[in-house]
Amino acid sequence: MPKIPVKVVTFEEIVEWSRTLAERIRESGWQPDVIVAIARGGYIPARLLCDWLGVSDLVSIQVVHWPTAAQMAEKAYVKYPVSVDLSGKKVLVVDDIVDTGDSVELAKKSVEECCKPAEVRTATLQVITPVAKYIPNYYAIEVKEWIWFAYPWNAVEDAVGFVMKIVKETGKTTWCLDELIHAHIEWYGREYIEKRFGYILYAVDLMGKRGLIKLDKCTS
Ligand code: ADP
Repeated sequence: MPKIPVKVVTFEEIVEWSRTLAERIRESGWQPDVIVAIARGGYIPARLLCDWLGVSDLVSIQVVHWPTAAQMAEKAYVKYPVSVDLSGKKVLVVDDIVDTGDSVELAKKSVEECCKPAEVRTATLQVITPVAKYIPNYYAIEVKEWIWFAYPWNAVEDAVGFVMKIVKETGKTTWCLDELIHAHIEWYGREYIEKRFGYILYAVDLMGKRGLIKLDKCTS
């Protein structure tokens, strides 16, 4: 078992999950007038839902996390609120995943407070039910054990973050490629390295240019 379980997600799966999500919304008999995408993970799911549901009005809100010094927990806050008039509208707030649920819950409250909509509902592609403190009105996939989903739209960011984590945890900044591959298998599993190898090389190149890692020849 890797230290951090990772599932690599393809664009095909995203299209399929967003279609399932749209079907659940349609079956409920509710049709949004406006979709609010939560930046950044909600952008692609929100655009696909616009397509499946025939919605042309798409706006966005950005929720980010502040690491709080005291606890290691991070606090979510709205960095860019919605600043348009949504009075009388049925609004669907969309994100990729509910992990703890803080982002989606906060975005929903912010839209209710800012813009006087008629109703706000929430939808995400996935929900990690054992850790979720907030369950959205609609979701496509229930996740029963915590996993990091390596979504296709942040493959470079994941690769950089993952290499950085290995460097920080080991305190080792000079690596040979073989060692780095083995460390990735140990930390994130074989599937991740097989499917995202090119991105890992790209990340190492970026980080090398910033002086964060040095790639050396393997000696044996
Ligand atoms: P929540 O507020 O639901 O806990 P977070 O605020 O932790 O979600 O996460 C914010 C964003 O971070 C998510 O919209 C998603 O893009 C990303 N994220 C969080 N957890 C995961 C995960 N397990 N796999 C992939 N991405 C995640």
